[in-house]
Amino acid sequence: MSIFTKIINREIPAEIIFENDVLIVIRDINPKAKVHLLIIPKKEIYTINDLGQEDTKLIAEMFFTAQKVAKNMGVSEWYKLNFNVWEKWGQEVMHIHMHLLSDI
Ligand code: AMP
Repeated sequence: MSIFTKIINREIPAEIIFENDVLIVIRDINPKAKVHLLIIPKKEIYTINDLGQEDTKLIAEMFFTAQKVAKNMGVSEWYKLNFNVWEKWGQEVMHIHMHLLSDI
């Protein structure tokens, strides 16, 4: 079970910004910018390479959630979305997540 699934199951605390039936948005515990959020699907998918056609709706939901959360946090003027894929590129948690960063 990934650390993010433990957060989703409320076994580990986190600052939850938004949640629906398919994903959760939390504040990154080690922020690299003033606003640093993680958009995490509830389905445990190891890396972006493991996404399948059946995840199409989920991926769209992640981007629309980024758009909505950026607006609600007042950072929609400038923000960066990022996925790390595999350890070589800095993926520490093997459960896909989109980083949303902004310095506004
Ligand atoms: P990545 O390097 O792309 O796998 O990103 C993993 C991110 O998860 C890092 O930015 C960590 O700071 C963050 N992280 C790890 N554990 C927690 C946690 N318990 N609560 C919030 N963020 C976390």
